[in-house]
Amino acid sequence: MKIDTIRHRKTILVAGGAGFLGSHLCEALIGQGHHVICLDSFLTGRPQNIEPLRNHPRFEQIEHDICDPIALDRPIDQVYNLACPASPPHYQADPIHTMMTSVAGTGQLLRLAERYGARFLQASTSEVYGDPEEHPQRENYWGHVNCTGPRACYDEGKRAAEALCFDELRSRAVDVRVARIFNTYGPRMRADDGRIVSNLIVQALRNAPMTIYGTGSQSRSFCYVSDLIAGLMALMNVEPNPGVPVNLGNSGEFTIAELAKMVTAMVPTTSSIIHEPLPVDDPQRRRPDITRAKAILGWEPKVPLAEGLPATIAWFAADLAESEPAPPL
Ligand code: NAD
Ligand code: UDP
Repeated sequence: MKIDTIRHRKTILVAGGAGFLGSHLCEALIGQGHHVICLDSFLTGRPQNIEPLRNHPRFEQIEHDICDPIALDRPIDQVYNLACPASPPHYQADPIHTMMTSVAGTGQLLRLAERYGARFLQASTSEVYGDPEEHPQRENYWGHVNCTGPRACYDEGKRAAEALCFDELRSRAVDVRVARIFNTYGPRMRADDGRIVSNLIVQALRNAPMTIYGTGSQSRSFCYVSDLIAGLMALMNVEPNPGVPVNLGNSGEFTIAELAKMVTAMVPTTSSIIHEPLPVDDPQRRRPDITRAKAILGWEPKVPLAEGLPATIAWFAADLAESEPAPPL
């Protein structure tokens, strides 16, 4: 077993490796015996996410913005591109940089992969479907995206990155795989991330008002982080290259009001729900069709929301207790 692991050891670059998903991916790859280079600008990622790996002999960290040319002192076998802010308040804070991260940054990483003949996985998103007019969303749906709205820097940036990836694949320059990731949650989301799962949990734990934008009738499908990471690694390593994008997500669909109800049932809290305006272009419904992932990767999520949510709540409770200790009596 040990000899087999060493024979298959790869050097793997994880761009965005200090973020929520990236740090779990780095950990899983180290666990499989690989050498991991985490490349991150710490725009939204945090040093504490990779703290447990910092002294590991097969882990390295480079602070770098992927929009700038990247030089490495050794060959790499695989590149996972997760570098991009993912929550609406964060990706809208500097929309031009978000767009450039997806387009110029993905371009830089593709050049690096080409130089070393490395396989490439692009973290795309369900946002390429925009506010979908087809439900659930299959990969052959082209989407319904407002290219001039405040979400465009992210949605259109990711769509352009997909176009770049498939041109690289068609020209046979790089062996590219594209994962369309649906809403994923779990430990290491930031308390100030702004996404629904972290907002509701943190608000409930702080006994603060729980914010629902609009009526709460809009839906999302929530995938637990360990399932998503397993899907990313399966897509990176599957043979042959599927040559098409693959949805990765949990097909259990919940309205935001239902999610808020679940959180209040799981967290002892005095919080009440308040309604705030629905953000511009907020998608009304979202659920992945994962038929393709099941067929090509033999992958499907294992952790339902009823299990993943308590695990995430427990992690946030511990994290907040550490960062915001209760004042002395
Ligand atoms: P995150 O914000 O926690 O992680 C993104 C990481 O990328 C951070 O560590 C950040 O510092 C880094 N980064 C951002 N811009 C960079 C740049 N220009 N150069 C170098 N590093 C940069 O978000 P996440 O939830 O972990 O998302 C990771 C990836 O997965 C993103 O590409 C996102 O678009 C995609 N994705 C996530 C979800 C989700 O629900 N979490 C859904 C769809 C797609
Ligand atoms: N949302 C909400 N309250 C919040 C944060 C988000 O009602 O405090 C809503 C948001 O308007 C959207 C859904 O929850 O309809 C999911 O938002 P999130 O930012 O998590 O993901 P995305 O919209 O990118 O899928």
